[in-house]
Amino acid sequence: MPLQEMHDIGRPEVLRLTDVWKTYYGGHQAVKGISLTIGQGECLGLVGESGSGKSTLARCLLMLERMDKGEIWLNNRPLHELGTSELRNARREMQVVFQNPSGSFNSKLTIKDSLLEPIRCQNKGCPSFLGDTNNIEEEIAAKLLEKVHLPARYLNSYPSELSGGQKQRVAIARAISVEPSLIVLDEPTASLDVSIQARVLNLLKDLQEELGLSYLFISHDLSAVNFMSERLMVMQYGKMVDLCQRKELFAPERHPYTKQLLELFDVK
Ligand code: ADP
Ligand code: MG
Repeated sequence: MPLQEMHDIGRPEVLRLTDVWKTYYGGHQAVKGISLTIGQGECLGLVGESGSGKSTLARCLLMLERMDKGEIWLNNRPLHELGTSELRNARREMQVVFQNPSGSFNSKLTIKDSLLEPIRCQNKGCPSFLGDTNNIEEEIAAKLLEKVHLPARYLNSYPSELSGGQKQRVAIARAISVEPSLIVLDEPTASLDVSIQARVLNLLKDLQEELGLSYLFISHDLSAVNFMSERLMVMQYGKMVDLCQRKELFAPERHPYTKQLLELFDVK
């Protein structure tokens, strides 16, 4: 079956990319004609070795990077056609968690202020999933930390006082705080100790199930992507070479590169 036809996701669509291309200054083509769809409440996994163009694709869809051509539809709105101010609003529907948690925090802000930044910027109140907080910031922040299993005493700490795993939990709490349509997770556990990685993946998965979140989960590690995602997309040299449901991952028709990754990461 042609890969494009497998994009029938059987649920309302949150994000659709059509034929996205990105060439860097100097002529390197990092993304070559990628199309994908993510459904509501779905986790689409994107796997490929380092340098295959995953982060470039993520930055293009977050509109942090200008693409050469392509379409980006978020909740059926064409982001690629919007002007600057409209785009700023539409982009708020997407949150991102990057690999390096330290880079996502202002070292001079307390955890509470970092955590509440998106809610304040977007003039939003308490997210509906927290229940009753009387819209008191302190309470919202404490309950958000609780969602990612951190005690409220960290609210007055600074990023330097938290471990990498704790910071990544705060980054996750911040991403969910504005109830975005889509969360892009770009190697969210790659910089963490191996012992911590599984716990953060479990947290992400639990939150997805509990809150019905939609994820684009990006990793070079096929075992992590396999754990997180119902559907998997494989990128190599900027192209999509494979796309399948998790249960089809071991099917004989898989692309040779997918099979190579299965072996490399010992996925069973
Ligand atoms: P991945 O996230 O899969 O590791 P990237 O999207 O980071 O891949 O990179 C894809 C390719 O684009 C790599 O060859 C990388 O060196 C190149 N690249 C990434 N960012 C830039 C940039 N800002 N300028 C030029 N080349 C870049
Ligand atoms: Mg990357």
